[in-house]
Parts: sequence; C-alpha cells; structure tokens
Amino acid sequence: MSETILKVNNIHKSYTTGKESFEALRGVSLSLEQGEMLAVMGSSGSGKSTLLHILGAMDAADEGEIRLNGELRKDYGTEPAATRIRAEQIGFIFQDFNLIQDLTVEENVALPLMLAGEKNRVIWEKTDQMLEKVGILDKKKNAVTELSGGQRQRVAIARALITEPKLLLADEPTGNLDSKSSTAVIEAFLNAKSQIKATIFMVTHDAFAASYADKVIALKDGIVFGEL
Ligand code: ADP
Ligand code: MG
Repeated sequence: MSETILKVNNIHKSYTTGKESFEALRGVSLSLEQGEMLAVMGSSGSGKSTLLHILGAMDAADEGEIRLNGELRKDYGTEPAATRIRAEQIGFIFQDFNLIQDLTVEENVALPLMLAGEKNRVIWEKTDQMLEKVGILDKKKNAVTELSGGQRQRVAIARALITEPKLLLADEPTGNLDSKSSTAVIEAFLNAKSQIKATIFMVTHDAFAASYADKVIALKDGIVFGEL
C-alpha cells in the first residue's frame, strides 16, 4: 500500500477585485500518493496556479479540507503554520527557475540547508549527492548565469529536493525550455521519484511532460473535469 501524502477535498477559492468576485476554484478534490507524479493541464485562467499556491501553503482556500500525511490541517494556508509547512514539507520549482544569480550552482543548492542551520560537512556532502543525482555535479563551481535553461532547471530541482520534502510542486517547469532541456528536466523528476520516492505535482501545458506523469487531470473553469 502506498502512503497518501496530500489529499484535498472540495477546495474553493475566490478573488475579489473591487466589487467583482471571481471563483477561480469551484470544488477541487484530488490526492497524491508517495512517489506519484500528477500532471495538471488546462487552458490559461483555468485555476492551475491558484491550486498550486493553495497546495503549496502560499495562499489559503476559502473552503475545503486539506490532509497532509493523513492529518487534517485547518491551519494549512495560514501563518505561522504555512511557513513551517513550506519550509519542512514542500519543494518549489517555477517556470523561470528563481535561482540566485550571484551564487554558484552549489551555493544555490546548499542554501536551504544553510538556512536550516545544518552542519557544514553535512551541507556539502548532501549538496554533492544531489547535484550528482540531477546530473550537474561537474558544474558545481559555475555561476548559474553560465548554464543553459535545462541545466538551470536541474539546479532548481536539486535545490527543491535538498531538504527531502514530502511534496514537490512545479508550475510549468518546462515552459521556457526547448525539447532537449525538457527531457533533461523530466529525467530529473523521474530520478527523484525512483531514488527518493518524491511526490510531484506538476502544472503544465506541455503534453510531452504530462505524458510522463502517472496521472493527468484537466482543470477547466476551476473544476477538475476528468482524468485523461
Ligand atoms: P492558470 O494558472 O490556470 O492560468 P490562475 O490560477 O492563475 O490560472 O487564475 C485563475 C483565474 O483567477 C483567472 O481568471 C485569473 O484571472 C484569476 N486570478 C488569479 N489570481 C488572481 C488575483 N490575485 N486576483 C484576481 N484574480 C485572480
Ligand atoms: Mg498559471
């Protein structure tokens, strides 16, 4: 039996601008098992990023239940719990990589461990191991500006995985990449799944990336309307 990492039920979220209220999510339910990769597809404005922000404890749902590791968390999207959940349980990957330009490859990857107050020896040992897993150990002393898009995204994946989060959330991870680089990113995800049983929630427009997922769902107007 696999373990359910995250289970959400009947999530609603509205945005209010002036007098106008818009319901971006209208009752979303889904679950993620350990080691599973779920892809969420859907046209622009369908609510994909809103859902990712809620699952990532970056925003609170208006309604609905969120269970993390089997535990109902009413505090999921609210501080101070949200910060702890983000730091301890979740790794994030974005379309534009969000790396720190002034740091080297290894410094970017080591950063979350430094912030967690880990011992120096442990930091550099784990960083090397992670860089090896995503296939860019030979670039560790390079500036991130010297890397290709695909290599940068692999640095971002290594940084997201270094704290061994339960859940990896990726918003259009191959959105800015050519097909060769996209393949490298997908390979890094598949390695993370097999080697550390990473659980991956990936928002994507890219049918190629989605084809590697264990499960693909489609969002339309804030509703999951089917498993593809
Ligand atoms: P997607 O990622 O699928 O393109 P989003 O989740 O970003 O969709 O947006 C869903 C809907 O919610 C869109 O109609 C968008 O305009 C609206 N929306 C998103 N964020 C906000 C916000 N901060 N304020 C108001 N409306 C928003
Ligand atoms: Mg989006």
